Amino acid sequence: MEGRPPPPVRGPNRLDAVETHQLRAGHWSGSAQYLHRIGRHPSPECAQCSDRGCRAGWCRACGEEADTPDHVLLRCPALMNARLRIFGTIFPSLSDVRRDDAVAALARVARAVKATAHQSLEGQHNNNNSYSP
Ligand SMILES: [Zn+2]
Ligand SMILES: [Zn+2]
Repeated sequence: MEGRPPPPVRGPNRLDAVETHQLRAGHWSGSAQYLHRIGRHPSPECAQCSDRGCRAGWCRACGEEADTPDHVLLRCPALMNARLRIFGTIFPSLSDVRRDDAVAALARVARAVKATAHQSLEGQHNNNNSYSP
């Protein structure tokens, strides 16, 4: 028998594993704070920094603070409903956030919420003009 390389791990499980690892480690590509720190999310005021007070790295879902792992997993108010559904509580414990499946589910919701929040911010001008009671 010829030696065959092991089959590559792929599909949703592998993606989930990467997301959970990166989210916990603070290297998550869904995090504005991380992207700003590595220079991939510049703002007109600041191209790149690791300052958690810098607005360019604040959470796009809630706009209240930097979206660090703790913020996304434990605090972000925009993910309150998702946390309740996924963890069964809006204040998950540290043992809750060790569950890989739960963290992966929250990461998916966080990406979706951030994408929607971003769009609605950009669409605000037009919506305000066309609004009629
Ligand atoms: Zn900055
Ligand atoms: Zn947030």
